[in-house]
Amino acid sequence: MKRNYHCPKCYGILNPNVKIILKTECSGRTALLLFSPQPGNYGVIAPESFHLKKGDEVRFSCPICARDLTSKRDHSMAEITFSTPGGHSGRVVFSRIYGHEETYFVTTEEVRSFGKHADRDGLNFWGVGPRD
Ligand SMILES: [Zn+2]
Repeated sequence: MKRNYHCPKCYGILNPNVKIILKTECSGRTALLLFSPQPGNYGVIAPESFHLKKGDEVRFSCPICARDLTSKRDHSMAEITFSTPGGHSGRVVFSRIYGHEETYFVTTEEVRSFGKHADRDGLNFWGVGPRD
């Protein structure tokens, strides 16, 4: 079942095919990067000329409306939304630090964390409790 990822501002679809496309800025340079829609997969496709090294802070923005996707709740994170054909929807919250593997899928029912750095107690932090 295909999950659609959306910009939370313009609701444009960010994964027209398989990969998620985000505009990415780092140290004054800008590129379109492709991300895996699979939670926990941190493989990124970037132009050869756009080098990122671990620890670089990047700014993600929507490739459609150009608005900043930085989370208002935590400025070290970015947020997009998702929905499934089954009617589930929620937010994906992920780190803005390159190489920092921390991702949360947040719905009204639960918070699921992915990535080796996702060790914070995100449950209270996001104001949503786990299912059980
Ligand atoms: Zn947008």
